[in-house]
Amino acid sequence: MPSSLIIGAGMAGLTAARELRLQGWDVVVLDKGRGIGGRMATRRIEQARADHGAQYFSATTPEFQRVVQDLLTEKVITQWEPEADSPADHAIEKPHYVGVDGMNAVAKALAQDLIVHTTETVISFRVDGSQWLVETESGGHYRADALLITIPAPQALALVEKSGFPITTADKSALSTISYQPCIAVMVALNKPSRLPAPGAIRYETGDIAWVVDNGQKGISPAQPSVTIHASADFSQTHFDDDLNAIGRQLADQLANLIPSDSISTIQVHRWRYSLADQRHPAPFLAVEAPLPLLFGGDGFGDGNVEGAFTSGFQMAGRTTAL
Ligand SMILES: Cc1cc2nc3c(=O)[nH]c(=O)nc-3n(C[C@H](O)[C@H](O)[C@H](O)COP(=O)(O)OP(=O)(O)OC[C@H]3O[C@@H](n4cnc5c(N)ncnc54)[C@H](O)[C@@H]3O)c2cc1C
Repeated sequence: MPSSLIIGAGMAGLTAARELRLQGWDVVVLDKGRGIGGRMATRRIEQARADHGAQYFSATTPEFQRVVQDLLTEKVITQWEPEADSPADHAIEKPHYVGVDGMNAVAKALAQDLIVHTTETVISFRVDGSQWLVETESGGHYRADALLITIPAPQALALVEKSGFPITTADKSALSTISYQPCIAVMVALNKPSRLPAPGAIRYETGDIAWVVDNGQKGISPAQPSVTIHASADFSQTHFDDDLNAIGRQLADQLANLIPSDSISTIQVHRWRYSLADQRHPAPFLAVEAPLPLLFGGDGFGDGNVEGAFTSGFQMAGRTTAL
């Protein structure tokens, strides 16, 4: 049975793994996180839930729509219109989906029946005989015929360099052009509902805050109200290394009309160094020149976002089986 190692258990890696499994491949996914899902992340604070990475996704390709249909049937996801008044969204009839129990539950559903090792940070890879040999920080060694790397491109490039693996100047330059915006995410557990008007989300075009959502109105936090605030890319860049507690309080205070200070119970902050890929490789993946199949993908390739990551993983699997 042919085998594949996949680095990264986000949407791209899990999708590639599922597709390769369907084709009869032996697949192992490695992720450095304590859990799976990458930027499809949900946190529990007190009795509340808050999505602090991806907020919702759309499905425009038939391949992703098939997966979405299954997830709808299994009640893992549901439809939610965050910007109900946006005529543009309705004009193109692009429904938005959210995880019923948060976005991370989507990743967990996709990972069913897959072999995924968490808390395994990959530190190097090389060709050893007729297979790839991947080494992790914990001392783990994994071997496979094909290697798929779905971590954000700057991290992938650092891994290539740390491994001392020779890639062509053209491949290196393709990976180097991919870039990401940072995002500071603030999660606030509340002791009473927020004052966000329905449908429970506001996107700001200017200022320090880019997005605020009421996770209760979104439907993922029935037991206790909570909001998620995403700082703008500029604010996140400028304040990335500042004291997180102070930043969390500062951003929450800016929304005092929507989340009065006496309703705030707990504030937590997460820094995403890589949030949305603003410069992407045009194709859904990059198959680099190497003695054995070596593919790079993720949301830095193709259309970006959750759906772009899905397409990247799906296409990577297709190319791997064709090699
Ligand atoms: C704040 C924020 C808001 C967003 N909002 C939206 C939205 O509303 N809609 C939307 O569609 N998209 C949104 N996105 C983008 C979306 O989350 C991503 O495009 C998508 O989830 C990326 O999936 P991926 O598989 O490419 O990467 P990731 O989800 O980042 O997965 C990569 C995985 O690789 C792992 N990893 C990294 N290095 C190593 C290593 N050395 N060894 C092992 N594992 C490693 C990481 O732990 C991670 O789990 C948002 C993202 C953020 C951060």
